[in-house]
Amino acid sequence: MQDVIVLNCGSSSIKFAVMNVETGQASLTGVAENLGNADARVKFKASGQSSSLSLPENANHQQALSSIQTIIGEHDANPVAVGHRVVHGGETFTQSALIDESVKEAIKSTFHMAPLHNPPALEGIESAQKAFPDLPHVAVFDTAFFQTIPKHAYLYALPKKLYEEHGIRRYGFHGSSHYFVSREAARMLNKPIEQTNLICAHLGNGCSVAAIKNGQGVDVSMGFTPLEGLVMGTRCGDLDPSLHSVIADTLNYTPKQVDALLNRESGLLGLSGMSNDCRTLEEAAEAGNEDAQMALKVFCYRLAKYIGSYMVVTGPLDAIVFTGGIGENSAFIRESVLSMLEHLGFGVDTDKNLAARFGQAGNISSGKTPVLVVPTNEEWVIAQDAVRISQQA
Ligand code: ADP
Repeated sequence: MQDVIVLNCGSSSIKFAVMNVETGQASLTGVAENLGNADARVKFKASGQSSSLSLPENANHQQALSSIQTIIGEHDANPVAVGHRVVHGGETFTQSALIDESVKEAIKSTFHMAPLHNPPALEGIESAQKAFPDLPHVAVFDTAFFQTIPKHAYLYALPKKLYEEHGIRRYGFHGSSHYFVSREAARMLNKPIEQTNLICAHLGNGCSVAAIKNGQGVDVSMGFTPLEGLVMGTRCGDLDPSLHSVIADTLNYTPKQVDALLNRESGLLGLSGMSNDCRTLEEAAEAGNEDAQMALKVFCYRLAKYIGSYMVVTGPLDAIVFTGGIGENSAFIRESVLSMLEHLGFGVDTDKNLAARFGQAGNISSGKTPVLVVPTNEEWVIAQDAVRISQQA
């Protein structure tokens, strides 16, 4: 049995898991949170038992990782590698990489593209290398799966020097999830992935939809940042780009304040004025709240339009795939989206739609094209890559 330590380091948190690489089951999961604050702590769960530990006041990544090392050390595990989730790999990383000094330098060179995500990821990598010095460390990039997107799909219609000199183009995110569910979907369809065309919708707090042709990512709704594309929990998705300056002028905001509004106060939360949580909105909509009803309608309409446009991109489609917290659990959202696509031959089987929830995969289609619900497991992709890449070295 081989275990991998999977780490996802944010600016004030470190999510961790010990995962069996053969089964994809995590025997230990946890999060160090509120790092840099007075109430920094680690919460973790093993064998159904939840525990919590206080960290020193204002604990940093290094202190959190030394506590995580102790927790993992007391756990019955056999870690052979550490896999790190890194949000942005720019154009340098088309696949996962064994971390050495040159990889760390290359991650540094992407800081301007993901200023909130990549600096803490690198800090986490350096702390984890100190905590687990004898294990190989592998970086797995959220953007890597989409490095196969053709140039005509990733270029923005901007002066070309913005791309050539500053790397401004569409990158796409959620790559590990789209990779995982597309492979699972091909397995469910009993088709080689290299011959499978899919449209995958990852709907969680962040949402993205990917066009996958012959197993490769050929388009994705997220762009230079994870703000573009679908309506999300608190992010607006697509928007008239002039609105950035219109909102700044109207509200007398700085560009950073506009960014915060678009990233944290918009999406389902902004539209409903109530919540970013799909479950809460479904309950409110059911009870007759019109703002909640409209927020969900805008969400579904945007997604249905993307699916329609991606049918142009994929060619003959083998399946639509739903995943992520909303995609895996919300029969309502899936049915609403598919009802908007009815004239394209899609339909939903009510019983199958209700059955495919809470971790249960299934084909919910009543039409001729399958519609698959596939629970995602991004950590498993990271764990498998960590073993594969470290064994190649
Ligand atoms: P993250 O992107 O943070 O990983 P998740 O993938 O866990 O988020 O998705 C969170 C979203 O999933 C929330 O909007 C939540 O309301 C939604 N969700 C979870 N369970 C259900 C459910 N049973 N019905 C509808 N939405 C659900």
